[in-house]
Amino acid sequence: MSETADTPLDLIIIGAGPIGLACGIEAKKAGLNYLIIEKGCLVHSLFRYPLNMTFFSTSERLEIGGVPFISHQPKPDRFEALEYYRRVADSWQLNINLYEEVTEVKKIDGYFSVTTAKSGYTSSNVILSLGFYDEPWWLNIPGEELPKVRHYYTEPHPYFRQKLVVVGAANSAVDVALETWRKGAEVTMVIREPGIRDSVKYWVKPDIENRIAEGSVTAYFNSSLKAIRETEVDIETPDGIVTIKNDFVLAMTGYQPPFRFMKQAGVTFQTDQYHTPVYNETSMETEVKGLYLAGVVCGGLKTNKWFIENSRDHAGMIIRHIKSN
Ligand SMILES: Cc1cc2nc3c(=O)[nH]c(=O)nc-3n(C[C@H](O)[C@H](O)[C@H](O)COP(=O)(O)OP(=O)(O)OC[C@H]3O[C@@H](n4cnc5c(N)ncnc54)[C@H](O)[C@@H]3O)c2cc1C
Repeated sequence: MSETADTPLDLIIIGAGPIGLACGIEAKKAGLNYLIIEKGCLVHSLFRYPLNMTFFSTSERLEIGGVPFISHQPKPDRFEALEYYRRVADSWQLNINLYEEVTEVKKIDGYFSVTTAKSGYTSSNVILSLGFYDEPWWLNIPGEELPKVRHYYTEPHPYFRQKLVVVGAANSAVDVALETWRKGAEVTMVIREPGIRDSVKYWVKPDIENRIAEGSVTAYFNSSLKAIRETEVDIETPDGIVTIKNDFVLAMTGYQPPFRFMKQAGVTFQTDQYHTPVYNETSMETEVKGLYLAGVVCGGLKTNKWFIENSRDHAGMIIRHIKSN
């Protein structure tokens, strides 16, 4: 279902992730004239997650709009989640324009002018449910532009019998290191910290620590990648620069919210280390009247503060506030 630019809207929701969809459902329930605009496919971030990933949440905690989420195991996988959110979009007949990137949000004379790559819209309210998965933390080192360097991981097969460097020590780096090693890659982890992070899932941490201790996975702690070339990389270690042979680099160094886009829309930020956006914690409204934040984007650089489970409620909070105005 696709919406055109002709009608002024009550609400535009930017981003069709789980939380953008939840906002759409609440808007529909409240009888608002709304449109969700998404630059990629439905739940684009989830679509790009590793193929074999399993959610850490049990399925009922990922439910939105009262649609039951049935999964084979208590914790669903990516395929089940994609199926589920497609079902949600269909069963609620949500108004979503897919593959339409929003390029600008401007408030003019009390209304938001929303410009996209395909069209333009006017709306009384806007929700930014933008997620954080589009902009990786770059390594900013020579060779990062080589095609063998990747910031997103999908599956282990391409790395079979390859010399692989995995950068990072959080959940995604550890998952990637273990999965690729188990599928025949020769894995070296390059880790800035002195150890695997405590935030790594408690059932996975001993696995990686034991693989490192037994020498199956090599790890350079207190170290960072300094340069990448076609067939080797330089690692700065406490003992000096070490150069090793290398075929691929997977930089699992995390992602950040689209701060520039948020700023141009009028969002302001605290001066804390997380660059946390300013918003009212009851209404989710920013300092711009009618401009709201929802989902993971609310945490700024603390991208593990808000996730699907604990930010589903943002939808109801926002729509109640819009209706009360
Ligand atoms: C490997 C992994 C496992 C996870 N497991 C869990 C779990 O078990 N439980 C849990 O609760 N959370 C989990 N999370 C976190 C969870 O997936 C995110 O918190 C969740 O996706 C946030 O939903 P969201 O709707 O806020 O953002 P997103 O899902 O990121 O959606 C944002 C959407 O906005 C779109 N967008 C961005 N900019 C624009 C623009 N300018 N124009 C149009 N569209 C735009 C994006 O394309 C995207 O589709 C996991 C995350 C990862 C990486």
